[in-house]
Amino acid sequence: MKVREPSDRTAEVKAAVGKLDILQSDFCDAFEQDEGRLFSSRECWYCKYGDFGIDTEHPTENSVCRYEKKV
Ligand code: SF4
Repeated sequence: MKVREPSDRTAEVKAAVGKLDILQSDFCDAFEQDEGRLFSSRECWYCKYGDFGIDTEHPTENSVCRYEKKV
């Protein structure tokens, strides 16, 4: 399996009509801090729209962006 480098997903988030697969270190301009996290960094891992299962025993490296564009 080819490993993708973390990247700025802003254009894809704006254009996405379905689910956008993300990596922990991806980021975009729609980032909003997850209030439950003690540390902050502008990455999907810390964003309230990313769900990597951090409260579980097996957090994942991949997730789906749940950001919904405001029309
Ligand atoms: S999880 Fe947050 S930072 Fe990552 S692509 Fe979605 S809105 Fe942007």
